[in-house]
Amino acid sequence: MPFSKFGLGEGILRAIKKVGYARPTPVQTAAIPKAMEGKDLIAIAQTGTGKTAAFVWPMLHRLSQRKAENKLHGTKALILAPTRELAVQIVENIESYGRHLTIRVAAIYGGVDEASQLRAVRKGVHIIVATPGRLIDFIGRHKTDFGNLEILVLDEADRMLHMGFLPDIETIVETLPKRRQTLMFSATFPREVESLAKRFLYQPQRVQVGKRDNPAETVKQSVYEVPPHLKAAMLQELLKSEKFRRVLVFVRMKDGANRLTEFLKNEGVKVSRLHSSRSQEQRLKALQDFKDGNIHVLVATDIVARGIDIEGVSHVVNYDFPVNTEDYVHRIGRTGRAEHEGEAISLVPKGDLNLLGILEMAIGQRIERKRLRNFNYHAKSQPLEAGAPPAKRDWRKRTREMDAKKTAMPARRPAKKFSPKPKNRD
Ligand code: AMP
Repeated sequence: MPFSKFGLGEGILRAIKKVGYARPTPVQTAAIPKAMEGKDLIAIAQTGTGKTAAFVWPMLHRLSQRKAENKLHGTKALILAPTRELAVQIVENIESYGRHLTIRVAAIYGGVDEASQLRAVRKGVHIIVATPGRLIDFIGRHKTDFGNLEILVLDEADRMLHMGFLPDIETIVETLPKRRQTLMFSATFPREVESLAKRFLYQPQRVQVGKRDNPAETVKQSVYEVPPHLKAAMLQELLKSEKFRRVLVFVRMKDGANRLTEFLKNEGVKVSRLHSSRSQEQRLKALQDFKDGNIHVLVATDIVARGIDIEGVSHVVNYDFPVNTEDYVHRIGRTGRAEHEGEAISLVPKGDLNLLGILEMAIGQRIERKRLRNFNYHAKSQPLEAGAPPAKRDWRKRTREMDAKKTAMPARRPAKKFSPKPKNRD
């Protein structure tokens, strides 16, 4: 299907041409016609499928129509996303696809000085991209006016719920006009997301691309069994290969991220780290350096790496094995994006093998086992044991506990309207 079939305005088509896409991705083909009709939509799509464009293009089209009708007044669209990084990325997408339009967009997220965000909003913006926590503060203090709003997007809905944003989302949605188009994007569709959809969407159309909870097919997955004390040495060995051009390494703990980064730095690797204790400035710089190729390894914890889109990530390494299937799917979705090939490697100590087995059952496939040639699997000690120790608890039990927690939501904090306290969440 050519892009021109969507009925998007000429300015948007020119912008798509400029970024050089050959054809729409499956989620775009399925979701855009429905979004263009103004219908509510639930799209279940894996990361890296081109889902951002699937809501940004119809949104820009509707807003440019409003402009032509001389009805582009006030904030017309709100996009809620779980993390600051994702919010920034969505804004970048809007600016790129909207380059030929005069649509103004602003981001509202925590961890940075509020003044510049406030200035942008006061100037008048047509689209706001926000993380729920900061937006709540903002609405309370600055009386953001959503009276003209026509479109609400909930991006990575499953992740927002996981992070405990439900009370904030509820409070925000209460301030929006009832008559609006609501688009919800989610990598998975657990019960909580379904119930959110029932409450906030009106007769939604449903679009599902790929199987649920399955890793992108363009990612080649493998596992290296390795004693825990040799994980750093094995990573160092792997990084020597030229194929490892741009490598995203996931660890469980911030502390582990710090130690592993130091270790790699001392070994001459160009590396930086991304976790929630770093300032927003440091996080954006680390991401930019990674995107620009100034560093070739980025060590990250799950919470900040969710949803980030970096072109050309050749490898994702699970230095610490993820604690649930969803995190695994999201992590490895950072490579193999938009139908490019990518590789995901997991370093799995004996203590985590049961987790691997449960993951394989969940995704319905066996992951290839590999051994690194010329690597001394029997070496006694290494200077670093940067990762988290093997998970002691059974994964199934942990998943049950998480499910119980989720069912008990809202749990993070009671729904409080317009809390004035600034938060610093991911
Ligand atoms: P997303 O799933 O929105 O994070 O998008 C993943 C990647 O796909 C981004 O780098 C987009 O620039 C890219 N992308 C979006 N639409 C297309 C398309 N039609 N063809 C190729 N790449 C695309």
